[in-house]
Amino acid sequence: MSASTTRNYRPETRLVQSGILRSPFGETSEALFLTQGYVYDNAAQAEARFKGEDPGYQYSRFANPTVDMFERRMAAFEGAEAARATATGMAAVTISLVGQVRAGDHVVASKAMFGSCRYVVEDYLPRFGVTSTLVDGCNLDAWRAAVRPNTKTFFLETPTNPALDVIDIAEVAKIAHAAGATLVVDNVFATPLYQSPLALGADCVVYSATKHIDGQGRCLGGVVLGSQQFIRDKIHVLLRQTGPSMSPFNAWVLLKGLETLAVRVRRQTDSAATLAVSLAEHPKVSRLIYPGRPDHPQAAVAQKQMRGGSTLVAFEIKGGKKAAFQFQDALKLVRISNNLGDAKSLITHPATTTHQRLTPAQRAELGIGDGLMRVSVGLEHPDDIVEDVLTALEAA
Ligand SMILES: *Cc1c(COP(=O)(O)O)cnc(C)c1O
Repeated sequence: MSASTTRNYRPETRLVQSGILRSPFGETSEALFLTQGYVYDNAAQAEARFKGEDPGYQYSRFANPTVDMFERRMAAFEGAEAARATATGMAAVTISLVGQVRAGDHVVASKAMFGSCRYVVEDYLPRFGVTSTLVDGCNLDAWRAAVRPNTKTFFLETPTNPALDVIDIAEVAKIAHAAGATLVVDNVFATPLYQSPLALGADCVVYSATKHIDGQGRCLGGVVLGSQQFIRDKIHVLLRQTGPSMSPFNAWVLLKGLETLAVRVRRQTDSAATLAVSLAEHPKVSRLIYPGRPDHPQAAVAQKQMRGGSTLVAFEIKGGKKAAFQFQDALKLVRISNNLGDAKSLITHPATTTHQRLTPAQRAELGIGDGLMRVSVGLEHPDDIVEDVLTALEAA
């Protein structure tokens, strides 16, 4: 097996060429190793492998060549020393937090979080004696004030779901480190193309590979990235022993997804920016939120830490839930779905779907009004997407 090293190439090149483990057959495309286990040449080799003295594979719960290729490619793309793939994004988030804490520890997290992430921090960790404080992630003083002597880690996502707030990663990392804590960033919305949390001071980055990394709505996956030491000490053993591993098949799909990520995300971002322009002054829209625009509430932070806008657009439609439903039902091309990052344009009404579990007061705190819509802009022609949205707005 021969490995390629492409760390010094530009991101687009790394997305296509990094991490390839080419078999003796010399295949051009990455091979799919659908195997649970591995055979040993002799008893001594089996012993050496279990002792960690022979570098080969043992069992696909913790290592598989196709999954390895995905991890290597992600690490090279992100500029991380190490990566571990997981079955889903939630497995990545859960393991990145659980791997760092024990009973008696405390976690500080930004309130504006993907729903299941909020469940892990607020409902699941306390069962094991890990307490948490949720803060307004954009308020740096709130992070400072939340620190306790037993705070072990900070967790945030930016831009946030669904209101697309932008949190200053470098400043929050400084507060975490001053408190002797680490910072974990869920970088799904920004994608590794537009934002590099590790370079900004974060200790760990997590992704739901289900989103832009697959990008074509096919399979679930996740990945945790960090320094060699962080992955070895906090992630590897837990993943190996508890088993939320990525299947080789999904790793293969996601590897192929990575090859086209830059092209897709750039095109989707351009279309999203175009859609944002057409909604900004629209009489039926009371508020438009798009991280690439100067009118975004945290435009200066976005400018400082992001290299691009977003494939997502959020906006508040006048007339609350009734208008939001009329609008969604009038769409012909953009489909109603809670997913994002897909080649197909998708729309969500967070108040009645992804954030239904929260109380109206909790939603209000997060800027999730009854008229808030979140559009994940796909790869269709931008004029068709804009036409569909504007036509449907007339029905609202
Ligand atoms: C989708 C998503 C997750 C969870 O990922 P799954 O692959 O669905 O488990 C976590 N965080 C963010 C920001 C997401 O969008």
